[in-house]
Amino acid sequence: MNIHEYQAKELLAPHGLPIPRFRVAASPAEAREIAAEFGQPVVVKAQVLVGGRGKAGGVKLARSPQEAEAAAGQILGMDIKGHTVRRVLVSEAVDIRREYYLSAVVDRGSKRVILMASNEGGVEIEEVARQHPEKIVRVEADPFLGLFDYQARELALAMDLPKSYLRDFTRVARALYQSLVEWDASLVEINPLVTTDKGAIWALDAKMVLDDNAAWRHSFEQLRDLSAEDPFEREAREKGISYVKLDGNIGCVVNGAGLAMATMDVIKLKGGAPANFLDIGGGAKAETVAAALAIILSDVNVKAVLFNIFGGITRCDEVARGIVSALGQVSRRVPMVVRLVGTNEEEGREILRQAELIAAQSMDEAAARVVEVSRQ
Ligand code: GDP
Ligand code: MN
Repeated sequence: MNIHEYQAKELLAPHGLPIPRFRVAASPAEAREIAAEFGQPVVVKAQVLVGGRGKAGGVKLARSPQEAEAAAGQILGMDIKGHTVRRVLVSEAVDIRREYYLSAVVDRGSKRVILMASNEGGVEIEEVARQHPEKIVRVEADPFLGLFDYQARELALAMDLPKSYLRDFTRVARALYQSLVEWDASLVEINPLVTTDKGAIWALDAKMVLDDNAAWRHSFEQLRDLSAEDPFEREAREKGISYVKLDGNIGCVVNGAGLAMATMDVIKLKGGAPANFLDIGGGAKAETVAAALAIILSDVNVKAVLFNIFGGITRCDEVARGIVSALGQVSRRVPMVVRLVGTNEEEGREILRQAELIAAQSMDEAAARVVEVSRQ
């Protein structure tokens, strides 16, 4: 789950990350009041769940409360990469000497938390990785002992950070690592982390991706911005379905993330394009299947649907009942191909015989059929 910059800063500040004073405003007048209260130049920043706000005009420096009001007036309501700006962060401005990049991320390859740093700060890290991969330095934290000071110094040295900032940088790196672990984040990114001529270090931006699997340990739900979420992705989550919308025209209802990926691959192999990734999960009930189908058919691009169910804990007859009951509820009809194998497959097929569905035996056949009918 992605959270806003202001939320990330609220979570990170108590860990000791140096974050300039800030508050959130929902109107230009509010932005002016905050700037007046701070009594110094501020930065007004769009709060949307995408990066590159600076380039899009969503970050503005304001030297007076009036300028802050004007900046907020321009930024609020702005569309940044399809996200409407509803709130701005008003933060004390910092005089930047140099911008750096620092992040902590769960690295699946090494099965560790790694810290990445670069002196190409302020630029999107993907861009740096493409243009100057040698400018990104990494260290791996020990899963039991954490991040050592010498590792932070290694990063600082590799990115030519002047020695006078070393002590503060070490503290920042450790705090970043600690906050990732304590919040069960998969990423905590500070871009830019900046130095000032006065010898200080500040985290000017913050991005955090929280691991949904750890939601029960924290109160993540209250951090979720429902207004910024795709309504169908939200409905799917509420029903316990993993759903990601894609650009193709073949809807997929599958149980198990691995099978869902394989199904998408086979559809592509047969020359089609999946409209979504969808995992109804293990042991899905009829109601879940019905919800999944409704979500898929709400996408007007969908021209055909493939059900690929491997009955293990999930029972095929239960899924079949879900399909039949869903067909009774949805208004839009498209050709549907069903492949059911495993627990109670006979019962499942029997239930489906009454409905107008195309049955397939193998995954290969099912994918070929659905691609074929999607073209008719
Ligand atoms: P992003 O573009 O969405 O990553 O937003 P950032 O928060 O990273 O802001 C973009 C850029 O605005 C930064 O890289 C800085 O160059 C600049 N910026 C942000 N805050 C300040 C500040 O307090 N002072 C100054 N001078 N520039 C800032
Ligand atoms: Mn940034």
